[in-house]
Amino acid sequence: MKANRLILLLAILLLNAQCKEKVGPANQNEKETSVENQENTHLSILKKEFGTTDTGEQVDAYTLKNSTGMEMTVITYGGIITQLKVPDKNNRIEDVVLGYDSLVQYTRNNPYFGALIGRYGNRIKDGKFSLDGTMYTLEKNDGPNHLHGGKKGFDKVVWKAEEFEEAAAVGLKLSYTSADMEEGYPGTLTTTVTYTLTDTNSLDVRYEAKSDRKTIVNLTQHSYFNLTGDFSKPILDHEIKINANQFIPVDESLIPTGELAEVNQTPFDFRSPKKIGADIDQTNDQLKKGRGYDHCWVLNEQNQGMRFAASAYDSNSGRYLEIFTDEPGIQFYTGNFLDGSLPAKGGGVYGHRTGFCLETQHYPDAPNQPNFPSVELSPGETYHSRTSFKFSTK
Ligand code: BGC
Repeated sequence: MKANRLILLLAILLLNAQCKEKVGPANQNEKETSVENQENTHLSILKKEFGTTDTGEQVDAYTLKNSTGMEMTVITYGGIITQLKVPDKNNRIEDVVLGYDSLVQYTRNNPYFGALIGRYGNRIKDGKFSLDGTMYTLEKNDGPNHLHGGKKGFDKVVWKAEEFEEAAAVGLKLSYTSADMEEGYPGTLTTTVTYTLTDTNSLDVRYEAKSDRKTIVNLTQHSYFNLTGDFSKPILDHEIKINANQFIPVDESLIPTGELAEVNQTPFDFRSPKKIGADIDQTNDQLKKGRGYDHCWVLNEQNQGMRFAASAYDSNSGRYLEIFTDEPGIQFYTGNFLDGSLPAKGGGVYGHRTGFCLETQHYPDAPNQPNFPSVELSPGETYHSRTSFKFSTK
């Protein structure tokens, strides 16, 4: 009798332990962890599983909310901003960045929607540059040139994420260590990118990087904006202002000619707000080469640290985006390669020019252009870059 009872008890205990083992981790995977800020109950961070890459890496999605209702979702794959929901003038909160609904769409064919770009944002001629007499060869993934970090740039790797809260902000710190010679770049590069969403509707992006060998770095964020909140609408009616007296003319393969041209009396003059569509289809050699705007502007006040770089305004929704940066340049790209072949979030497709990018950065092909600000990073130095996207209405 006694022995029977003991066996029964042991059996029950064993069964119980097995159940816990099975249920425990499965539940954890599905669980949404919500961290509420004590002082302000509206700030929140929600973590969910987003999927698994082809190579079996788990990708998480973090949704950050501020206390005024602005919301952004970032996935650990590519540090991609998959959603950015901001209020319009009637307080209607809508998504204003292009992207996809599922991970597989991002991994299979993403024209850099929402992604972090590295190690080098923009093009490097012939995928070649030299440092201290050594020639380095990079992937030619854009015709004859290297673009946005290569075949597997920072937009295609899984970042480590650490969420944090401040008094009036929530954020996500992403880190990634790129191995020596990854994609052809010298040096082990340790990178962190910190996204901070503030209660004043600003998205602050801070980049930091260190290398153990001399290398080159030029990081940026590649969100495509459409402030109308309706991805079926072209962005041609947005009014753009760019704080730049000069822009960088390019050749047929979008490599800088080396010249800095005055914007004055050209379609590239956005010193006063102007609709994207106003001059985009003018007969102009540079617009032809870019198939529209796809150029880097030379921002004014280069030695003044963070300053106003550009703005975009959609008068229908009243949404107004201002961009501040400490970078010398900004690439303004008007979604000229979007052609209706990519599926839009929530249905439909992304038609021609339904999103625009304003990518703060050092100039394209700087490693091969002695007159452009340097993009070199030496061991012992820290690369810093900062950009702030401030949303409001008017
Ligand atoms: C470039 C475009 C390119 C796009 C990729 C932009 O940063 O300037 O030329 O097509 O990225 O989607």
